[in-house]
Amino acid sequence: MNGKIVPSVCSYCGTGCGVLFQVVNGKLVGTMPLKTHPVNEGKLCIKGWHLHEYVNSPTRLRSPLIKMNGRFRQATWDKALHFASDRLKAIIEKYGPDSVGVLVSAKITNEENYLAQKFARAAIGTNNVDHCARL
Ligand code: SF4
Repeated sequence: MNGKIVPSVCSYCGTGCGVLFQVVNGKLVGTMPLKTHPVNEGKLCIKGWHLHEYVNSPTRLRSPLIKMNGRFRQATWDKALHFASDRLKAIIEKYGPDSVGVLVSAKITNEENYLAQKFARAAIGTNNVDHCARL
């Protein structure tokens, strides 16, 4: 058996609690709170304690899905991004930039949230930006 402990940061919300991942034979098997982390000081909420579970979940999405004729179909990132880009352009052209909005998430970093709102305002031309914490 080959085991190691890997320090990291919980990715479930923007609080940024410190965690220690337990890795056995290259597989993530457990999560523990990082006692010396200044944010959580050795505590985790229930989501943090189960952080390792979604990594190995058989229902985890591992590639983009495009909905066609009412059914989701697996797609490459290139195809999914082109599809989203083409649909966004068509909607904006027909209905204007305020016909779309950008929803950001507590599960991404502050920097990613910043880029998303910048994309909404500078690239799309709308102030329709909201966050999952307000939904
Ligand atoms: S342990 Fe809970 S509070 Fe801390 S970052 Fe993860 S989800 Fe957020």
